[in-house]
Amino acid sequence: MTGSLHPLLTDWPRSSSRPVKLQVSNSAVASLHRGHPLLYVERITRESHKGEPGDLAVVFDNKKRFVAIGLYDPFSPVRLRVLRAGQPGPIDRAFFAERIAQALARRLPLLQTETDGYRLIHGESDGMPGMVVDRYGDTAVVKLYTHAWFPHLCDCLESLLEQQPLSRIVLRLNRGLQQHPEHLRGLEDGQILYGEPIVGTLTCRENGLRFEVDPIRGQKTGFFLDQRDNRARVERLALGKRVLNVFSYNGGFSLAAARGGAREVTSIDQSGPALESSQRNFALNADVPTVAAARHLTIRDDAFKAMADLVKKGEKYDLVIIDPPAFAVRRAQVKEALAAYGRLAHLGVSLLAPDGDIVLASCSSPVTPEDFRRTMCEAAARAGRPLRRIEETSHALDHPLDFAESRYLKCLFAKA
Ligand code: SAH
Repeated sequence: MTGSLHPLLTDWPRSSSRPVKLQVSNSAVASLHRGHPLLYVERITRESHKGEPGDLAVVFDNKKRFVAIGLYDPFSPVRLRVLRAGQPGPIDRAFFAERIAQALARRLPLLQTETDGYRLIHGESDGMPGMVVDRYGDTAVVKLYTHAWFPHLCDCLESLLEQQPLSRIVLRLNRGLQQHPEHLRGLEDGQILYGEPIVGTLTCRENGLRFEVDPIRGQKTGFFLDQRDNRARVERLALGKRVLNVFSYNGGFSLAAARGGAREVTSIDQSGPALESSQRNFALNADVPTVAAARHLTIRDDAFKAMADLVKKGEKYDLVIIDPPAFAVRRAQVKEALAAYGRLAHLGVSLLAPDGDIVLASCSSPVTPEDFRRTMCEAAARAGRPLRRIEETSHALDHPLDFAESRYLKCLFAKA
């Protein structure tokens, strides 16, 4: 490690040595025993005192036996994010260093694949609930979902820098944290925590394809890393095909299809900057002969409208990819989300040439894989193009699924 972390971080007060003691409902004890990493405020029956964000909090059962220890956040409905369950033990720099080492070890296979854009730490599934770290080349982007990490961030990031050569660390804050600047001690979304500010364009590689990344203004932390394996599958399906990529963002699936030998790829997105970025990404990979040979077209419009227009014009594609943003973040939105997925599937199969391939994805976590699959099948059948040879895939290895609730991405590959 050369240089040091930002003083706003190194000067951040350490958490209190007096942990908050929590008593919780029996059902919450059972859920913590099963390994659920989050404890919601309404399940707490007694709190020894009001702690500060990032204080440690310990849960005991009604016989005063240890259940779990984790990070306390008085501002969040998720009052505790579990770091250890079952067995007590220290939570210190060595503990975080060990978690980071395990997370890095899990990702070693990616280093054989010309990939330097991937998720280093995937929150609770890597034992660090409320923190995501994505790597783009030698830049890491740390995204926080709770104030509770701040007192521990210096230990975590110094350990990360000791284990992983990086030249820059960028801080991203989820919206909830940005709404309370008074608790940020001057830190801001987009803050450079380590290294130099970003000048010019940052790029990363995914299976050898190059993409520009804007970790500060881009969506997510800059790139949708969770679709890497599905993009590789699309590449293998694309040879000689006319491809439609709906909700294309910066062209991840479009580039994969082009490298796979697609003759023409149309990217649809409502965002002008996203489409411009996809065009620059085609240019960045023009040294790949198949990418240079593929014709890339863009349509800037609402996807539902653009697809309906293409149906009206009688356009047909051999491969259609539909990977929309999350339509549901809460359970109450599931019905509406499924209706929207159904409309997309109907439009998608209507644009498919006979025996074409369709790829349908959902990143709405409250939508179950079963409901998603059933809705897609029913919608395609209603359009007179029932799905066949369906395969379901899920997250790439840097987005591990260590408990059921962490499964948000669903992806169907089918013929119709
Ligand atoms: N498939 C992409 C990720 C998609 S993210 C990838 O592999 O990286 C969702 C994208 O949908 C964003 O780029 C957003 O601009 C776009 N979007 C959201 N709502 C839209 C709409 N109604 N019509 C068209 N594009 C939309």
